[in-house]
Amino acid sequence: MRASRTFRVIFGIIVLILFGAYSYMRYTTSPHSSDFDEENARTYSEWLALAGVDAVPAEQTQQEVVVEEPAALEQETQTEAPAELPAEEPVVEEPAAPALPAIDINSWEYMLVNDANRLTAQDFPPQVVTVSDSQCPVDSRIAEPLMAMAQACKDAGNSVYLSSGYRSYSEQAANFTRVCNNNGVADGKDANGFYITMPAGASEHQTGLACDITDRYYEIKNASLENTATFQWLKANCTDFGFILRFPQDKQDITGVMYEPFHFRYVGVEVAKYMTENNLCLEEFVALYKPELAVAPAA
Ligand SMILES: [Zn+2]
Repeated sequence: MRASRTFRVIFGIIVLILFGAYSYMRYTTSPHSSDFDEENARTYSEWLALAGVDAVPAEQTQQEVVVEEPAALEQETQTEAPAELPAEEPVVEEPAAPALPAIDINSWEYMLVNDANRLTAQDFPPQVVTVSDSQCPVDSRIAEPLMAMAQACKDAGNSVYLSSGYRSYSEQAANFTRVCNNNGVADGKDANGFYITMPAGASEHQTGLACDITDRYYEIKNASLENTATFQWLKANCTDFGFILRFPQDKQDITGVMYEPFHFRYVGVEVAKYMTENNLCLEEFVALYKPELAVAPAA
């Protein structure tokens, strides 16, 4: 009897130990089990509910997901916004400076003759022709546009006079001496240092590509000629025929020549219009292709 009672006591202790061990293992291993499933999750929630911390972590987890989604959307929006900006850049770059005319700057139309770029007595003559109804010789290549311009000016009611075209080297030398004597100067320059007549070799007239055009009833070659209707018409229309006003008033510092509202030079229609639209004299235009020929403005 005594041994049987002792056995039941020991058996009861073993049962209590096993129950305690089972309870401890279930509490500590279920949430971290590798085969964690819905049933265990509910059991874990129940355990947390018993501890008073059930619903809070679950709601926080859901809120974190909700908060992160808009953040992700904002990032996408910010990423798309800068992506649109580069697409607008080509639109901004479209207004560009007018391209230079695609020409051969060494072609005869753009020959630059001035004080710094002189011709020798042997460089010419060009093929000269005398244009009709005047005694004005010019390079044969500009005869047609020159006569077309003169005729259009006449048709507009003006009295055009072709005063002076091609001059040989010796003719320019004689012209220089005569003008210097008439003005009491030796170097062909006025009081401001601008040429009123060019020394032999430095005159564009020696190329036959230029012509002094005045009014038949007003042949005075000075600044006052600009008041004639003939000059006003020529200034407004000369580029249509390929001519430019070679020595403008606002370019005296660059050309080194006084304002001559009568000296027109042929450069072709495209370049004549480009030079006029961009307010360039021939020295400036040629320098765009040949920087070594750039002329510094006079001091
Ligand atoms: Zn002239």
